Amino acid sequence: MYYNWKEQTNTEELKIVCNLIKNGELVVFPTETVYGIGANALDANAVGKIFIAKGRPSDNPLIIHLADKRNIEDIAQNITEVEQKLIDNFMPGPFTIILKRKDIVPDIVTAGLDTVAVRIPNNIIAKAIITFSGVPIAAPSANISGKPSGTNIEDIRKELEGKVSAIVDGGKTDIGLESTVVKVIDEVPVILRPGKVTPDDIKNVIGKVKLDEKVFKKVDEDENIESPGMKYRHYSPEKPCQLIYCENELDQIFYMNKFINLYNKNVVVIGSEEYKEKYNISKDRFINIGTKNNLDQIAQNIYSAIREADKLEAEIILIEGVKKEGLGIAIMNRLLRTCGYNFFEK
Ligand code: AMP
Ligand code: MG
Repeated sequence: MYYNWKEQTNTEELKIVCNLIKNGELVVFPTETVYGIGANALDANAVGKIFIAKGRPSDNPLIIHLADKRNIEDIAQNITEVEQKLIDNFMPGPFTIILKRKDIVPDIVTAGLDTVAVRIPNNIIAKAIITFSGVPIAAPSANISGKPSGTNIEDIRKELEGKVSAIVDGGKTDIGLESTVVKVIDEVPVILRPGKVTPDDIKNVIGKVKLDEKVFKKVDEDENIESPGMKYRHYSPEKPCQLIYCENELDQIFYMNKFINLYNKNVVVIGSEEYKEKYNISKDRFINIGTKNNLDQIAQNIYSAIREADKLEAEIILIEGVKKEGLGIAIMNRLLRTCGYNFFEK
């Protein structure tokens, strides 16, 4: 079933949706980051359906979504001082913390790890669904595994209708990129996946922070790493993609045009409006992701832009990069993987 809650949450429908969750069914719902496919996290059978619907590898663990900080101790234990400080400062919000798990969490959720990923979303619809379901909700992004995360409802319906029991439409998601995932190792917060909460935000609170070395690096499928989700092909369309970023504006224009010509203009370009007239390409092959001075806007638009580009006839998708600073770290982490590390930088 499709439910339109763009303007307002409907209480009758909320009951139906929460009953589905309680009964072990799958529900797609919005959060402030991206849409999620949710199931009762304490019901291994229900969680199994998520892996099937997404085609997700079973060694890629899920994030458990809670309504309130008080519920963290239902699923996690031995919370350290640094972890508590992170919880107090960044939750609810686009922030996921990896904690020591309790036995109540089924193995299928954590892919057998002794830790569990926990997030408290800050979105009215997500909060209502978690609160009234009365159970923690495991929810990965609403997309087939490997594809860009679902941030607008048309893409999600095309991909997941028929595979889930309900889809709740809350409009376009605010942030557009998945949460920042952090694990505290030897009292240092380590960012396993960058997001809207930046390294500086964390440093300002804890005094130290590390970016996992794999954030901008290619990870092999058989590598044993802290965040298993980082090793899979991800956020990718069907067409090949190339990421192009030069700090200097003239270089950016020069090299983008060089790649456009290399493919005899048989390309789609995803870029910022400042360069729209400068790239040597017709308007119907240019997808505008906003102004390059507004990373929030670029983050919000990026996944739908990649999906839109994939629908056009072209040999390759050329994507303009951003500076790896602040939210730009998360944008570039995703784009590098979108492009399978096919990257030109100057
Ligand atoms: P998704 O739900 O698709 O947004 O992805 C969840 C991300 O969290 C993936 O990158 C997972 O590898 C990561 N994750 C979930 N649980 C854990 C855990 N216990 N330890 C480390 N990373 C985790
Ligand atoms: Mg995902």
